[in-house]
Amino acid sequence: MTNDAASNEEPWRWPEAQWRRRVNQVRAGRSLRPASWPGGARCAVALSFDSDHDTNELRDGGRSIGRMSWGQYGSRVGVPRILQLLRRSRIPATFFVPAVSALLYPDEQRGVIAEGHEIGLHGWIHELNSILPESDERELHLRASDTLTEITGIRPVGMRTPSWDFSPATLSIQREMGLLYDSSLMADDDPYEINQDGVPTGIVELPVEWIRDDAVYFNMNRFQALRPYTAPTSVLDIFRREFDQAYQDGGLFLLTMHPHVIGYRSRMFILEELIRHMQAQTGVWFATHRDVALHVKALI
Ligand SMILES: [Zn+2]
Repeated sequence: MTNDAASNEEPWRWPEAQWRRRVNQVRAGRSLRPASWPGGARCAVALSFDSDHDTNELRDGGRSIGRMSWGQYGSRVGVPRILQLLRRSRIPATFFVPAVSALLYPDEQRGVIAEGHEIGLHGWIHELNSILPESDERELHLRASDTLTEITGIRPVGMRTPSWDFSPATLSIQREMGLLYDSSLMADDDPYEINQDGVPTGIVELPVEWIRDDAVYFNMNRFQALRPYTAPTSVLDIFRREFDQAYQDGGLFLLTMHPHVIGYRSRMFILEELIRHMQAQTGVWFATHRDVALHVKALI
């Protein structure tokens, strides 16, 4: 927890120790970009799908039946389409699933596991974990882990926080849970070890970025000005450039998508063409987040 004696002071009055302590709580430590990937591959690809479904509405206490039907589309149409494409392409992926989504759609989760994919933690009801009291946050992460384990038979080893953010307690909770990796932070393009208060934790970060997230380009709010502003073809172009440079760098290309966002008739081509492009290169290793984390953890 932060214990800033002067936390009520204006930031420009903070003593140096104060802003240093705040920044150092959670920090990128050593780079975990390996010299080579398994099989001598030059680049790793980790595709993830955040199966938020109805929790996008429930997390804020929403009652919109229309928005919950949009969530159901994610499970009913989006996930089957995604699984079919992954099966055809022989690519493993990771699905981050809020426990409430898993309870609403347990057969979906068992199907994901049966096809060789990974399921990771994504909160209880997609709560904004970064603003929760520590005891609530801990209890929800633990309960979510137990729930996913009961449904799938496999205990998750990685977490993507629902808010893509940490509270001051999140990293300590992940350490208590013995997690292998986190995938919520943004201090690099490539994997790194997370440091806590300057001390290496052994936890692998597989970094995300809003650039590599379908939702930021396509989200829409009927009653506000929020509208999709980027053409699907342009989104494909951005994702492809991110991959091409990761390939040049010998790094990791990690992409976050959502079944209720990418899973539409007019959008699935983005993922299809991207996969075709990536599979046309030699030396690309497609892996779950877990397998990427296991490989780079050997560098620690
Ligand atoms: Zn989410």
